[in-house]
Amino acid sequence: MKVDLLSLLPEEAEAFVVSLGEPKFRAKQIFDWLMKGKNVSDMQNLPMSLRNKLEENCLLTLPKVLQKQVSKVDGTVKYLFKLHDGACVESVLMRYEHGNSLCISSQVGCRMGCRFCASTLGGKERDLLASEMLGQIIAAAADSGSRVSHVVMMGIGEPLDNYDNALRFLHLANHPARLGISYRNISLSTCGVADGIDRLADEALPITLSVSLHNPTDEGRSAIMPINRRFPIAVLLASCKRYFEKTGRRISFEYTLLSSVNDSEADAKTLAQVLRKHLGNMPIHVNLIRLNEVKEREFKTPDAKSVEKFIATLQQSGIVATLRRRLGADIDAACGQLRRKNETTSKEA
Ligand code: SAH
Repeated sequence: MKVDLLSLLPEEAEAFVVSLGEPKFRAKQIFDWLMKGKNVSDMQNLPMSLRNKLEENCLLTLPKVLQKQVSKVDGTVKYLFKLHDGACVESVLMRYEHGNSLCISSQVGCRMGCRFCASTLGGKERDLLASEMLGQIIAAAADSGSRVSHVVMMGIGEPLDNYDNALRFLHLANHPARLGISYRNISLSTCGVADGIDRLADEALPITLSVSLHNPTDEGRSAIMPINRRFPIAVLLASCKRYFEKTGRRISFEYTLLSSVNDSEADAKTLAQVLRKHLGNMPIHVNLIRLNEVKEREFKTPDAKSVEKFIATLQQSGIVATLRRRLGADIDAACGQLRRKNETTSKEA
């Protein structure tokens, strides 16, 4: 079994280097190179014998850029990355005034089954290792020549269905001896794995939690998100409340608007009521998302008028709500579509 070096926390990496018969300080040298996206052959300040040992004993491949789409409108870059075993995932680099934000994947495919989502169409192939989540950031930064200051775990996969690797990734992304990204600049998005939210609350990391709600009633939510049968709204929101109480971090609720499914004025009113009923005065933010239509799915994006009406109704009910800016509208924006397109064409070829 090869050692997955990039998944090791600094103290584990030092112990590994020592186990190879090398002094501890070599770990820092190795990781300074790795964080820049360099290969073992680039590590000129290491003795050849150590480089050979690393090549022999370690799994050390960064995700490779298989395809890249750059938006002409706003410079958003969508990457299709190929992993060491040939599996593919997507990451999206978004440029904001406050810095560059990378949306990363946490699994190859997804088994959560949300009906409107492209990532779940072929089910889950496998979990990503912490090194593969970190690797997406390193590879995107190296390719674009820009520092990634913000990370959102909102790409392919459900991070709380890959809990241990996701948590390890969070520690690595934040650690000053790795990427040094502030926890406050990291968001984790979940479809509502309530027991995972409880575990995460106990870690007390000041990251931002985003919860994909998409419907204010159990009946409506279960119809589009199977996870709701396991963790219905009352259970999910109780976990959200505990999360806020333990971390003091405001939770963001994602709400993708699906025409005639969850976008009526009555839905907006029910949403406001349900959030207040379960969460009291806790600070809440609702992030509305326009559906990115997926060709295999029947759902449609609502028109601009009903979107505006939905936001206004929420705001009148005292809920802070914003519409997510649409970046990269001219590239394959909906997550999972690029990977899917690649898989379908390579199978047909
Ligand atoms: N599994 C996690 C993170 C990945 S999905 C989660 O469910 O939160 C990131 C966000 O995009 C979620 O809110 C998800 O519901 C939403 N989403 C999925 N497919 C979409 C689509 N076709 N259009 C708009 N939003 C979508």
